Amino acid sequence: MRLLGDLEIGVMFWAGRDPGETLREVKSLGAKCGQLGVPPELDLASSAKAWREALEHADFPLQTVFCAYEGESYTDIPTVERTVGFVPKASRKAREQRTLDASDFAEKLGIGSIATHIGCLPEDSWGEDYLVVRGMVRRVCDHAAKRRQTFALETGQESAERLLAFLHDVNRENLGINFDPANMILYGTGDPIEALGVLGQHVISVHAKDGDWPRRDVSGALGQEKPLGQGAVGIENFVKKLKRIGYRGQLNVEREASDPVQRLADIRAGVALLEKLKDA
Ligand code: MG
Repeated sequence: MRLLGDLEIGVMFWAGRDPGETLREVKSLGAKCGQLGVPPELDLASSAKAWREALEHADFPLQTVFCAYEGESYTDIPTVERTVGFVPKASRKAREQRTLDASDFAEKLGIGSIATHIGCLPEDSWGEDYLVVRGMVRRVCDHAAKRRQTFALETGQESAERLLAFLHDVNRENLGINFDPANMILYGTGDPIEALGVLGQHVISVHAKDGDWPRRDVSGALGQEKPLGQGAVGIENFVKKLKRIGYRGQLNVEREASDPVQRLADIRAGVALLEKLKDA
């Protein structure tokens, strides 16, 4: 498979339909590469072969396999705290296993990185919940390291400083960040351009996503996701800052609009926007 070039424009997309058909659609948007999300209902063991063959046939390199879990909901911040990632107690065992399975799936596809939202880190760094989540992340890192993979944590649910402290605390060389600038805004956790400076060398991969800050008059509300270039991120400055910190990886357009037609149109426009900005 073709090697990834510097700052190539990709798309964050999800498995679930026929792999060949999915890749044709993603390529038609102008993407040269991407990150593949694996939804919880996907049987990873039985679908790896078809995905590997389709990726080779399409000559479409992937940077990351992204893992999501059964029972997660992103309705508002309290719901995210209750349902997302490694934090909810009842699903920890199953979600850790699912992440290890995603790592095995990525290995079969020849992909060098896995990523996930681990959820809202518990406040107390000496509390049991924090220590258990730290242990889960360490075990995933060690499993991934044996497969020569990095493990990237998605940004957004805490400040850059807090995430950086967690990275140091986990203390694994293959642990890094999937930086999503819109999430910093949607969760109200800090200015994304500044956060990128704080996390700098730890950024393994990037979501190019945009959004507006949460409403102040509704407690626990998330901000609103927007088409790339139409939110509060300042995509031009974001790309400039990525270059300044020496990031050479892909720029993966992510769009979560519920209307599929709109979503594809927005991704196509996002890819075109980044093609302009990356050479500016
Ligand atoms: Mg994202």
